[in-house]
Amino acid sequence: MWCWRCKSEVPMLNEEEYARIQTLYGDSMKATKEFRQEHGLTLEQISMDERFKPVVNEYEKITGVSGFHHNAIMHHRIALFGDPCQYCGKPLRTLNAKLCAGCGKPK
Ligand SMILES: [Zn+2]
Ligand SMILES: [Zn+2]
Repeated sequence: MWCWRCKSEVPMLNEEEYARIQTLYGDSMKATKEFRQEHGLTLEQISMDERFKPVVNEYEKITGVSGFHHNAIMHHRIALFGDPCQYCGKPLRTLNAKLCAGCGKPK
C-alpha cells in the first residue's frame, strides 16, 4: 500500500497485526522509561533504535520487510488510511479526506 508519509509502497498492518506491534511499542516505551530512571540517563544517552528493536523485529516477521524506523511502523496501519482513490489507487490520507493527495482529484 502507498504510504504518503514515507512516499513509497510499504506493507501495511491489519488490526490484529497492529495490536501486536502496539503492545511491543508500549512495552519498549515503558522499559525505556524504567531504564532511564534506574540509570539516571537522558534521552540522548540511550539508543532509542536499540530500545524499540522488538517493534522493528515483529514488523519484519509479519511483513518480511526490515529497515523501517519504529515511528514509521506505527503509522503503517491500514485502519489509519482512507479508501483507495478511484483514479490512481493510492489510499486517501485520512478517512474523511476530500481530495486525493496522490493525483489531486476530488473523492
Ligand atoms: Zn509510512
Ligand atoms: Zn488519486
